[in-house]
Amino acid sequence: MFTLNTSKGSVSISRFAGPFINNKFQPSLAALPATRKLLNPCTEALIETVQEASPEDVDLAVKSAQSALQGPWKSYSGKRRRNVLLAIATALEQNMLKLTALEAACGKPLEEAKYDIDEAIECFRYFAGHADKLHGQNYQTEDGFKSFTVRKPVGVCGLITSFNYPLVLAAWKIAPALACGNAVILKPAPQTPLSSLMLGELIAKHTDLPAGVFSVLPGGEAVGSAIVSHKGIRKCSFTGSGNVGRKVMSGAATSNLKSVTLELGGKSPLIVFADADLDQAVEDVFGAIFSNMGQNCCAGSRLFLEAGIESDFLRKLKARVLKVKIGDSLDGAYDFGAMVDRAQFDRVMAFIENAKKEGKAELLVGGQRYGDKGCFIEPTVFYNVDDEATLAKEEIFGPVLSVMKPFTSMEEVLRRANATPYGLASGVWTRDLGKAEHLVQELETGVTWVNCYNLCSSHLPFGGVKESGFGKDLGAEALNEYTTVKAVTIRA
Ligand code: NAD
Repeated sequence: MFTLNTSKGSVSISRFAGPFINNKFQPSLAALPATRKLLNPCTEALIETVQEASPEDVDLAVKSAQSALQGPWKSYSGKRRRNVLLAIATALEQNMLKLTALEAACGKPLEEAKYDIDEAIECFRYFAGHADKLHGQNYQTEDGFKSFTVRKPVGVCGLITSFNYPLVLAAWKIAPALACGNAVILKPAPQTPLSSLMLGELIAKHTDLPAGVFSVLPGGEAVGSAIVSHKGIRKCSFTGSGNVGRKVMSGAATSNLKSVTLELGGKSPLIVFADADLDQAVEDVFGAIFSNMGQNCCAGSRLFLEAGIESDFLRKLKARVLKVKIGDSLDGAYDFGAMVDRAQFDRVMAFIENAKKEGKAELLVGGQRYGDKGCFIEPTVFYNVDDEATLAKEEIFGPVLSVMKPFTSMEEVLRRANATPYGLASGVWTRDLGKAEHLVQELETGVTWVNCYNLCSSHLPFGGVKESGFGKDLGAEALNEYTTVKAVTIRA
């Protein structure tokens, strides 16, 4: 057991002996298994050492998944799959503090971590509701023939996730995949595997999911690329950076042409008009960029203000930023935690230092490391940012907002907001529904929020356009990612 102390109480977590395959934790099959030390980025103290999986473990997990698909799992009715998903949701709920602590130990404030677990639970319940309602359709084609479609699971699905919302992102993929009757192999990000491993433990203890249907293989690139190129895997759903997303597509293309879903990065524009409720907009913009310390794919990192409101808006925004309490994420007294690890801290600090030197932006607030211990970075706002500045173009994935030069017309702001290869999310603040509707139609993003931000719901499809990826997590649309549709015609 290892212990995590939070301001809500202490929790003891079982040690995970290695990858989770066949409903149990077992040492990696590698001759010399790799291990990874997980440090709490707030204190840089050791949380746990995890044994990582190897390509041999990927092979074992695929074989186990294939036998489960041919064996007991195949005979589970939709009703029974629904009940498995509901049991997972209940088990998560009953272990809320443990799971919250595991997520918070990665630098995320306790309150945000709890919100994430709630979202994961909701996701399992939402897709439980779909598990017993999957169906094909009847068609009237030619006289004397009956035609219909049958929806089938894809098979073994490799699910690869990023570090920033470990359990939520896993749930977004696992829940629809299991609802549709697939077997899944989850590879969490190497920095944040613990909540996913605990999910394995809970599934083995609290559900009747047959062995082999769900595996968790902690590890990094070696395990990820073994999943991507494995010929026994029919589908890969990936959340992460564009660079790795390209490798996933190419690995899929050169192995068995498995189908791919890519949920990639963003450089999301936030557009505030002068007629907006400015206090609400300030609060929403603050959350849009600084939730999870900016380690959010939808992070609203480019803010466009209509000319005339800049000084008022920036004064209010700076006052809001100065209210944050930065500190140990396991202590609920703080609402702003640390970057996930030293590498992410260094990456973000390099962007900030470069922005100070590049001369294409001015610093409003922040711009420093916070304290002298841990991976804390002050929430940082640059203003008067040139559209050509590095800050305005690259995904930083940290607490850094670029307030762009103000805009004076709808056409201008649309052109500038869309001038990015990314297309994940956007936000608009105005009281004029006509303006909002026009932007909703014209912004090249997979999600647009109006007078709010970052509200993801299990009911709504989530995913980007352009270089932010393709395919959907969440919503009924996610079921298309995890099923194939067979067309049948029978001579009557
Ligand atoms: P990353 O691309 O570095 O890693 C993502 C995952 O890919 C990890 O599990 C990693 O181990 C694995 N991986 C690394 N090399 C691989 C390979 N060759 N083959 C297969 N898998 C491999 O991303 P990250 O740093 O964990 O996360 C940050 C990125 O994720 C940002 O770009 C962010 O915008 C994006 N993201 C997107 C969404 C979304 O839904 N669109 C959500 C969260 C994060």
